[in-house]
Amino acid sequence: MILKEGPTRGFRAYTAKHLDDLLRRAGLGDEERLRVRAVATVLPFRTNAYVVDHLIDWSAAPDDPMYRLVFPQADMLPETDVTRLAALLRDDASGAEIQAAAHAVRMRLNPHPAGQLDLNVPRAGPKPVPGMQHKYPETVLFFPKQGQTCHAYCTYCFRWAQFVGEPDLKFASDDVATLVGYLKEHPEVTGVLFTGGDPMIMGESVLRRYLEPLLGLEQLESIRIGTKSLGYWPQRFVSDPDADDTLRLFASVVEAGKNLAFMAHFSHPREMESPLVESAVSRILGTGAVIRTQAPLIRSINDDPGAWSSMWRRQLTLGMVPYYMFVERDTGPQDYFAVPLARGYEIFRDAYASVSGLCRTVRGPSMSATPGKVCVDGVTEIAGREVFVLHLIQARDPDLVGRPFFARYDPKAVWLTDLRPAFADRFPFEPAVARRLPA
Ligand SMILES: *Cc1c(COP(=O)(O)O)cnc(C)c1O
Repeated sequence: MILKEGPTRGFRAYTAKHLDDLLRRAGLGDEERLRVRAVATVLPFRTNAYVVDHLIDWSAAPDDPMYRLVFPQADMLPETDVTRLAALLRDDASGAEIQAAAHAVRMRLNPHPAGQLDLNVPRAGPKPVPGMQHKYPETVLFFPKQGQTCHAYCTYCFRWAQFVGEPDLKFASDDVATLVGYLKEHPEVTGVLFTGGDPMIMGESVLRRYLEPLLGLEQLESIRIGTKSLGYWPQRFVSDPDADDTLRLFASVVEAGKNLAFMAHFSHPREMESPLVESAVSRILGTGAVIRTQAPLIRSINDDPGAWSSMWRRQLTLGMVPYYMFVERDTGPQDYFAVPLARGYEIFRDAYASVSGLCRTVRGPSMSATPGKVCVDGVTEIAGREVFVLHLIQARDPDLVGRPFFARYDPKAVWLTDLRPAFADRFPFEPAVARRLPA
């Protein structure tokens, strides 16, 4: 563990142009570095000095989980694609030629799963409202335009397509008036979730422009901010020039009578070791905000119960509330990071069983799929058949929330779409097949 200095002042991003030097530091040879750079033409790469100097254990790279969290791996994409892209790089092909080849690979990676582009985009009259998603009645997601990057990118990010300059895949808005108008027309919405990217990449003055117009809306009970800044750049709340102003802005949300839920993404216990994180957490809690934590379960990064139980314990002692363990979504190099549902359930159960009830606010493993958030409650035997027991934590159709249902046990299934119903001919969220009436 490298923790040599105090706060690093001044945010500095490392991008693809620094990749080769960083890969040398991880001890990769010429051919290996070329193949990783080939992957980085397809998937986004970005990290920063804090992650590099404080989170990664370079003596354990490239196997170190923090290294794997931000650095692309040569085997994340199909071998033939990597070989072709590596050859283009080796031959100094033109930027246009490399981009075209990378684009073709991306289009095979399911860039927007679960009907995100069309199914959840709300409409004002006949017009779709860009930069918003409204999937569950009580919560609207908003993607602020200036919040569409992060302090570092996670290799497993399900929103990776937004960061690689695929123009028609981006959705974001700087139109807070449209958001306010939409909320007024939808009094059932009690919460707005700012997401991205990472909204905390925005400076205080920009963030304020988004938050302030919402504070007068009676209907809003909560404002959430989904962010990995506590893991990737805790200076944001401690030593950045606008840290104090940001905390005052948080306090003003609370003073307006809203629950400010800071949804912190932590992937690994090491992200909470730094004393900087401790001060950032305590300063955020000092504003009256609540910090809830969530992360996906990722093979080779946090696929063991000890990683989760130590995260939840540390979160509890720092004053944060464990919220969700997600199943990695069916996008991008999912095969690479996927943990089978059966194994995911075991990891969740073992971790959950080993912590205090105060940590058991966490739910999961949960799949954010097209019909809703599907939780794997367990594997059991019913009437001689081995089955998964599941329920919807959240659903497009609120009538389906909290009702148990069953799927045939399949040790290899990694996502909802791999499952088949048990004791029924369809899942509750699937439409009944219209039976043909006798003539
Ligand atoms: C998870 C999620 C929410 C929030 O659901 P909660 O159960 O309230 O945390 C809202 N919208 C979308 C699209 C989501 O995936």
